[in-house]
Formats: sequence, C-alpha cells, structure tokens
Amino acid sequence: KKPVDDAGSPPAPRFEGAERHLIQPWPYAGAIGNEARTPIETGDGIYITDADGRRLIDGPAGMWCVNLGHRREELARVMADQAMELSYNTPWYTMSDPSAELARRLAAHAPGDLEHVFFTTGGSSAVETALRFMQFINNVRGRPDKKLILSRGGAYHGSTYLSASLNGRPRDRDWMDGADDLVVKLSCPDPFRRPAGMTIEAFTDFLVDEFRATVERVGAERIGAFVAEPVQASGGVIVPPPGYLPRIRNLCRDNDILYVSDEVVTAFGRLGEVFASGDVFGIEPDMITFAKGVTSGYFPLGGVMISARLTEELRRSNHPQAMFGHGYTFSSHPIGCAVALKNLDLLEGGVLEHARTVAPYFQEQLKTLEDLALVGEVRGAGLMACVECVADRESKNPLALDNAVGKRIDAHCHELGLLVRPLINMCVMSPPLIITRDQIDDMVAILREGISRTMDDLRREGLWQG
Ligand code: PLP
Repeated sequence: KKPVDDAGSPPAPRFEGAERHLIQPWPYAGAIGNEARTPIETGDGIYITDADGRRLIDGPAGMWCVNLGHRREELARVMADQAMELSYNTPWYTMSDPSAELARRLAAHAPGDLEHVFFTTGGSSAVETALRFMQFINNVRGRPDKKLILSRGGAYHGSTYLSASLNGRPRDRDWMDGADDLVVKLSCPDPFRRPAGMTIEAFTDFLVDEFRATVERVGAERIGAFVAEPVQASGGVIVPPPGYLPRIRNLCRDNDILYVSDEVVTAFGRLGEVFASGDVFGIEPDMITFAKGVTSGYFPLGGVMISARLTEELRRSNHPQAMFGHGYTFSSHPIGCAVALKNLDLLEGGVLEHARTVAPYFQEQLKTLEDLALVGEVRGAGLMACVECVADRESKNPLALDNAVGKRIDAHCHELGLLVRPLINMCVMSPPLIITRDQIDDMVAILREGISRTMDDLRREGLWQG
C-alpha cells in the first residue's frame, strides 16, 4: 500500500479513494471502480457546496429525499441523542419507543385502513417487502398461483432483484437480468407521449381498457399485485391523466389484485401531504411503500403501510402459524425512527403548509421555460417537475437530438450555481421543500441560462437547427 502521509512523500490526491476504490451506483462497465463524480463537501438549507467551493442549489434535493433541507440542527441532534440513549435494538425479539411511536403517527396519516407499518432500510427493500407480503398472503389464502405483478413502462421501483424486475424505464434492464416470468408490463401513463390525435380522455380510456384486457388475458386468478408510483418520478415526473388512478384502483378491487402505491418519492411533503395516494389522488391502496423523505435523507429508512383488512385476514386464517419469513437487521432502527419522528414534527409544524403554498409558483415559473425552442414540455405536480427537451415539438423524438442533452444543461447550470438531475433529455427538479419564492426565481433563471447556452452549443456543433 502506498504511504499516505510519510514525511517527504506527496500527499495522496484528495479523491484518490473514489477514483481507485469506490464503486458508485449505476456505473458503466468502462468506468467501474475508476470514476470521479462531483465531490460535494457541505450542505446548508437548499444549498450544497462542491470541492471547488461553488455553492449550488440542490435541484434534486439529493435524490428526491432531503425534503427539509441540509444541516437541520433539530434532525442532527435527535440522531445524536437517540444514539446515546439506545443506538440499536434487535427487532427480532425487542422493540423501541421511537419505532412504536412512528408506527402510530404514520397510521394516523395513511389513507383508509392502512394502520400497520413494516419498516425497511430504504425504497427497494420497501417494494420488495410489499411484494413478498403479497406472495405470503396468497400462500396463506391457498392461492399459490396468484402471484404475478403488474407494472408499467416508465416505472422505477428499485435495485433489488424483484423490485428491479418491475422497472420499465428504457435502458435500465438492457444489461441486467430480472424475474421476467413474474411480471406483466402495461403502458406508461404519459399524456405527453399519448398516440397522436388522441384526447386525454380517450388516452385514459385506452389505459383502463388495456388494464382490463390484460387481466382478462392473463387471468385475475394469476395476478397478485399492481405496483404504481402515483407520479412516476425517475421516469420523468409523469403525472397520470385525471381519473386514471381511481379507475385502476377499482379494477384491482374487483379482481382481488392488491394495489401497491409506491410513494417512495411522493410521500413526506413532495406533493404537499404526508401521503399523496389518498389526499392528492383520492385512492385507498392496499399497501403504500415509502422511504427517502421519511427522514429527509438523514438516515436510511423506508417502510410499507399495510391494510388492517389484510393483517386481520392473516390473523383469522386457517394458518395463524404460517410465518412471514422476512425482515432486516435494520428494520425499525431506533435512530432512523427517532429522526423520522422529528422530521414528521417539522413537516406537520409548517413545512407541508409551505410546500403547498409555494408549489403553484414553482410550477408556474418552471412552465415559463416552455418558450425556449429546445423545451418540449414542462410538467409536474407539487414540488417535483421535469423539463423535457426535444429536437422538435412535432415528432417529440427525445433522442433525435443528442442523448446527453440533460448532461450538457447540467454542466452549464453547475457553472451557474444549480445542481440538475439530468435524465437523458430531461432535467428533473425536486428541491428541498423549504425553498422560497426568491430561490425558485434563482433556480429558474439559472435553468433558463443553462438551456440557452446548451441551445447555442448544439447549433454551433451542427447538432440542432432549432
Ligand atoms: N421506488 C421509487 C418510486 C423510487 O424512486 C426509488 C428510488 O429512487 C425506489 C423505489 C428505490 O428506493 P431506494 O433507492 O431507497 O432503494
């Protein structure tokens, strides 16, 4: 091993560890284990500071998770206090106050009879838990064949084997295996890319008819669950057409298909409510998965809200001894639950209200970017939005342009003080919920300048004539 601080030897480059030893998520084969990503040193409120000392608006709030912003002393303190009180307890044989209290508080916010919660370590493990629970209950019910899972194009549900098998974004699965025999895919409910000439109403009917026809073709007796993000996040902030989610919810109920609402992104204030399924979309799912904003990203925690109807059915089943053989060492982690409780206090104590108040302004201001010729559509809900670039508004072809256009915009915005989440031809904005109107103005002004500079570059390089 190379000595690092031996007198006389040059100091190791600061990020040598990353370039030589760290494997980051979603790497390309050619860069694996040998890649330096933008080093971030500190965070404060909606801002982060990179290693060059440049202060950036944290446009994606980390990964849609730093909902209360960086450097919240209340959150840091509660974690330290909990660690000094009880840093860990086994959830196999014991329990802690914070986990029991958090379960009670979450049940009060969840729609319908979602009175139970199973805590996990993040979003993928939450989706995995919901799916394994569906398998378990159908085994207990004596319906071992009712296990197929319906998922949709554009979806992102995680990076464990089963949760990743549901993913429907282009390219996610090109080089990865999956449990394809367990999953049936439906269309992405993207109004922007609906068939040419079709009204939104006709598109909604098309999606509902496709669902009904799929259930008839495959057989309701073989389908265990439908999993859906209320607003597809990583797929490009796809807001489904009005009425679509409730209609699909009814079809699930009619066919005894468990509806799993994946709220890993949309919960904890992103859409102005603790859970969006009931309060924003008017549906009562059988399960809701959550993670990310539950701790504002200060601690890895996730969970699944589960309907009391289902737990009751298990307790009264012919197999009360059947075991749900599933759990994580870090399920119900006391530090995670303690920080989640404080996070919830702060959300309830004004941040949800603030998010609801600034959301219309956030959407309006971003929408003004549609006057730029490169922008095909700006869409969103609450404090999540997507600026989608297209070569031309007629064909809406995302890739005719340049498949790194999002990265180009990100590079310019970085210079100007904004971190963007580039997704191929899209820029996703989901800042901390505490963002003010003035900060929204700054964010939109930087994005406008970043896109304008990208348009100039593309013209100069002969890649675009817009
Ligand atoms: N579900 C949704 C809707 C997500 O957006 C994500 C992550 O972005 C996940 C699940 C997976 O969560 P995690 O990365 O915490 O495992």
